This record gives sequence, structure tokens and C-alpha cells, in this order.
Amino acid sequence: MPAAPPAVTPRPQPVAWQYALLAGFAVQLLLVLFVTLIGLRQLDFAAHNLENVADVQMRKQNFAKAMALTARQRTILIFMMSKTDDPFERDALLMQFRQMGSEFVAARQGLMAMPLSNRERVLAERQRELIVLAQPIQEHIVELIMEGTDRGIIDLVLSDAIPAQNAVQAIVTQLDAETQRSVVEASHAARAAQAVARRWMIWLSAASLLIGVIVATLVLRHTARISRERERLATHDTLTGLPNRMLFMDRLEQALVRAERRNALVGVIFIDLDRFKRVNDTLGHASGDELIREVAQRLRAASRAEDTVARLGGDEFVVVIGEAAGVHDILQVAEKMLAAIGQPFHIAGHELFSSCSIGISVFPNDGTDSSTLLKHADTAMYHAKQHGRDRLHLYDPAMNAMAAERLQLETDLHYALARNEFTFHYQPQLDVAGGRIVAFEALMRWRHPTRGLLAPGEFLDLLEAGGDILKVGRALLLEACHEATGWHAAGHAELTVSVNVSGKEFWHESLFANVRDALTQSGLPPAFLQLELTEGIFMEDIDTAIARVHELKTLGVTIAVDDFGTGYSSLAHLKRFPLDAIKIDRLFVRDLVQAPVNRALIASILALCEGLRLAPIAEGVEDATQLDVLRALGCCIVQGYLVSRPVPAAEVSALLQRDWTATFGRVPTIVH
Ligand code: C2E
Ligand code: CA
Ligand code: CA
Repeated sequence: MPAAPPAVTPRPQPVAWQYALLAGFAVQLLLVLFVTLIGLRQLDFAAHNLENVADVQMRKQNFAKAMALTARQRTILIFMMSKTDDPFERDALLMQFRQMGSEFVAARQGLMAMPLSNRERVLAERQRELIVLAQPIQEHIVELIMEGTDRGIIDLVLSDAIPAQNAVQAIVTQLDAETQRSVVEASHAARAAQAVARRWMIWLSAASLLIGVIVATLVLRHTARISRERERLATHDTLTGLPNRMLFMDRLEQALVRAERRNALVGVIFIDLDRFKRVNDTLGHASGDELIREVAQRLRAASRAEDTVARLGGDEFVVVIGEAAGVHDILQVAEKMLAAIGQPFHIAGHELFSSCSIGISVFPNDGTDSSTLLKHADTAMYHAKQHGRDRLHLYDPAMNAMAAERLQLETDLHYALARNEFTFHYQPQLDVAGGRIVAFEALMRWRHPTRGLLAPGEFLDLLEAGGDILKVGRALLLEACHEATGWHAAGHAELTVSVNVSGKEFWHESLFANVRDALTQSGLPPAFLQLELTEGIFMEDIDTAIARVHELKTLGVTIAVDDFGTGYSSLAHLKRFPLDAIKIDRLFVRDLVQAPVNRALIASILALCEGLRLAPIAEGVEDATQLDVLRALGCCIVQGYLVSRPVPAAEVSALLQRDWTATFGRVPTIVH
């Protein structure tokens, strides 16, 4: 697993944002306050104004009415005085007449003290002039009455006093009308003030509404962004940005619902990188992360936009192919992905070759719910791994049975050591130049009580995983040494036995003592024991590995690099180890005849062996053509089915008896 980057917690929102929002709210609040204040002030002003005007006008009207009343009263009094003969009554009427006169003056003074409009002032002035004209007439008539002259008084009253009085009266009426007009004007002004207030309130309310909407929109957008970000973090893998398991399951379920409606297929492609741990261990976690990112990118590129590529964690990816018309469509995508991962990677200045194992399950054939489909794709992937990696497997219900079988095997394995069910078969290494067997590789076999003889491919990983490999390896090492001692005793004193050592065994502290004890207990001269170490060992913790190999070499044994060419080890790298032989992987031998590249590769490995003084051994030689090419290239030691399959110890002597020169001839090898 690549080092998971620390979980990214959503950063606290930028402070500027909060300030901006707060400012928005504050402005809005102020505007609302302002609107309320203006509204209240304007209403107050209008009401006050109206009240004021009404009060003034009412008082003016009262004064005007008093003036009109007293003036009319005076005319009536004159009329009454002219009619009466009783001097007492006349005096009383005169008193009343004078009284009315002062009331008129008081009312007029009251009116004049009021705030008057220009028009009112003009009318008041006009009235004053008319009074000035009417006053002497009235006084004159009153004098005549008081003197007792009664002739012509009535005529005088009718012709002079009443018209003069009427003129004054008319002005009073006009003043009254004027006052009415002022009230109307005042109410108009109040209404105008209210209109202004209303306009302001509308504008400011609109502004505050707008700001409110803007602020709310910003807040909503901001919170939406934050929640989107949170959701993304919860549903996506931080290293690759791909959907995580949760989102993947969700998408898969959606795809299943759609496919069910439209009668389509859904493919679940489970992808696991091969030997990813090795990259992590040798190049570091940062490079491992980079490789994962690059793989994610390639998978994305190899899929269609509507497919979901997700990372389940570690080096596991999974892809949903929605609405496929046929399995063919799904296979095509998977093959594209397999090829994409097979292309070299350039990570931290290294050229890396990787591969992946792919398992595929298809809805509805292999399951109708998301977890079953995922489980079955995983099972199929596991099978791809079991069958040599770098391949894809479609899920097959039989695989489940196989999984159960494996579980049984694991249980059986537990008792196998105690029951002594492990043994070695031996495969000869033939020196084709000399026509004789020079060594036997010891290959582990399990004599299973019910399933017969099993090869390591069927149980070695279980044995390694359980840790039992250490005990089994130790027991078998002794067995191999004993066997070789037997060959020596039988006259084949130059035969070497070659024993495989797995990574787990190599790194375990007991290895040195085990080898030493096996040699002493069997009496085999150390030079005839070869240990085969896989290339991987030479990649991990190089300095310690070199020290351990040196330590083993002090015992006098020889060391071979197994499966050479399949790992990442460079040749320069190997120079630092005290090695004796290189076993060229059968992968190169297999296509030797068809692929000229492999031919060139083997030629260069042979050249390297010569340079480093290492013995080259070609593995997996199956036919005579391969042998011919190898011989032509100068490789003399071969191991493979062509010579012999691995055989039980009892059959070794028969192989040693064979005349190999007769079988393969003694064609001299061309030495460069
Ligand atoms: P390996 O060390 O590369 O061993 C060679 C494998 O190739 C053997 O498989 C052998 O049977 C097979 N082989 C030999 N000639 C041919 C050929 O001409 N064509 C083909 N196709 N295959 C050929 P086997 O015995 O199944 O062993 C598989 C692997 O298991 C070995 O690969 C080795 O890595 C591991 N192994 C075997 N025995 C032991 C052991 O005692 N201890 C440990 N740690 N690993 C072992
Ligand atoms: Ca080997
Ligand atoms: Ca090998």
C-alpha cells in the first residue's frame, strides 16, 4: 500500500469571506433601519404639518366667522335701534352695538396675528379699507338715531349701511374660502410628503432586498461549494482523485438499475497490479504513489467517459462498464486496460515495467447485486493472479468451488509437514558440450493424500503465507544434501544439487545455520550445494543482501540467480554480489526461435556471464530447435523437459546412466 497522504481536512473558510458576508448583512441592516427612520420621519412630518395647518385654519375660520357674525349683528342692531322709540332700549342696543364693534376688532386683530398667505393678507387689507368706508356710515346713522331724527334713517340703513356691511361680509366669505383652500393645499403637501417617503421606502427596500438576495446567493453558493468539496473528499480517493469504494458502489448500483430497465449488461472489472509491493519496497513509497497515479490515469484513458474508474485502495482498481450490449464490449475495455498497464512507466527517473491481473464479473450472469458482482470480479482477479498474472479472467462459478478447495488445501497443508508429505523431485542440468549431467535442481513436491502429487504452483504461496516454508525448507534442504551425498558415494562425485531459497527463507536469521547444519549432517562437500536466489532478493535492502550472500559463501556453497531477466535488477547491480551462476528464465527460452529479440537478449546475458565469470544455465528448454539456438549462442548448460522432467530421487540414477551424447550429439559449441 502506498503511504496514504494525511487525510485532508477541509480548510476553515477564508476569513475575507466571512467579513464580506458580515459587511453585506450590516449594510442591509443599516438600509432597513434607514428606511424605517425616513418613513417614520416623513409620516411624522406630514401628520404634524397637517395638524398644524388644520389648527391654524380652524382658528382663522373662527376669527373670520366672529368678524362676519359681529358685523352682521351690528347691522341688525342699527336696524333695531332705528325701529325703537324707547330711549332705554335704544341705549341698551347702542351698548350692544359698541360691544359688537370691539368684538369685531378683537377678531380682526386675532386674524391678523395669524400666519397669513399673501392672498389672505390682500383680502384682509381690502376688508380693512371697506371697514374704513363702512365705519363712518354706521357711526353717522347711529348719531342720527341717538339724536332722535327718525326720518330717512331706514332709507339710509338700507341704502348705505347694509351694502357697506355686505361688502365687508363678502370679504369675510372670501377669506373663509381662502382658508379652506389652504387646508386643501396643506393636505396636498402632506400627501406629497408621504409620496416622497413612500418613494424613498420603495427604493431603499428594493436596495436592501437586492443586497439581501445578493448576500443570500453568495452565502448559498459558498456553502454549496463547501458541501460539494466535503462530498468530494468523502467520495474520492485523495491520491488519484478517482471515486472511492463508496461512490463506486453507488455508481454500480445505479448502473444495475439502468441496465435492468434496458435489458443491458454491466461489467465489473477488478484490476490489481502485479508485484506492486516490490516497487514500493525498492523505489520507495513516493514512487509507489506516482505509479498508482499514473496507473489511474491510464485506466481513465482506456475507459469511456460514462464508465466509472474507482480506486478501492492500495493497488486495487475497479471499473464499472455500464450498459454493455455484450460481454465482448466489456472484454475489449479490459484488454485495453491490460495493454495500457503493460506499457513502460517512467517513475522517478526509472523505467518500470508493470502488469496487472484483471478479474471480470458481468451483470446479470455473475450476480444481480453490487457486492456479489464485486466479490466475483475479485475472485476472478485472484484466478488471473494464480494463473501467472498479467492476464484477465472472466468469473466462472467454478471459481467459488476452487476457492473452497483452496481453503481445504490450506487445512491439509497444516498437517503435511508432520505427515512427512513433502519431498523433492530432481531435474537434471545437462552440459551439452560434455554430454553429461552436471547438476540436479531439487524441486519441491507435495504428496497429497487424496489429490496426488502437487507442484509448488499449487501450494507454495499458501506455505509462504503461513510461514511453514521455513520448516519445510529446512527439512528438504537436509534431504537434498543427503541425496547428493548418495550420488557422490555412487561414483558421481561431481554432481551438484541446486536448492531454491525463497525470499522469506533468505531473510530469516536461521538460514545460515540451516545450510551449515545440512552440510555437516549430510557430509556433502559445500562446493556441491548451490542455492538459487530469485532476482527479487537482489533488489531489497541491497547492502544487507550482499552481506548475507557473502556470509553464505563463507560456507563454501555456490549461488545462482534464479529466473534471471524477469526482475528489475540491472547488470551493474548484480556485479556487487559474489555470484556463481545465472539461470536464464524460461520466458526468454520459450520464444527463442520466433522472437529475434530474445535471441539478442540471451546473447547479451551470455556476454555478461562471460564478463562476470558466471555460469549461464538456460531453463525451460523444451525442444531441439531451442537447444540448437542456445548451443549456437554458446550456452552449454541446459535444463528443461527436453532433457528430463523433474523425477523422484529413485529415478536419478537411471538418468545418470543415460548416454546423453547419443541423444543430443556432441555438437561443439561455438565459443565467441
Ligand atoms: P523454478 O525455480 O524456476 O523451477 C523451474 C520450474 O520450471 C519447475 O517448476 C520445473 O518443473 C519447471 N520446468 C522445468 N523444465 C521446464 C520446461 O521445459 N518447460 C516448462 N514449462 N517448465 C519447466 P516447479 O517444480 O513447478 O516449481 C515452480 C517454482 O516453485 C520454482 O521455479 C521455484 O521458484 C519454486 N520452488 C520449487 N521448489 C522449491 C523449494 O524447494 N523451495 C522454494 N522456496 N521454492 C521452490
Ligand atoms: Ca529454481
Ligand atoms: Ca527458474
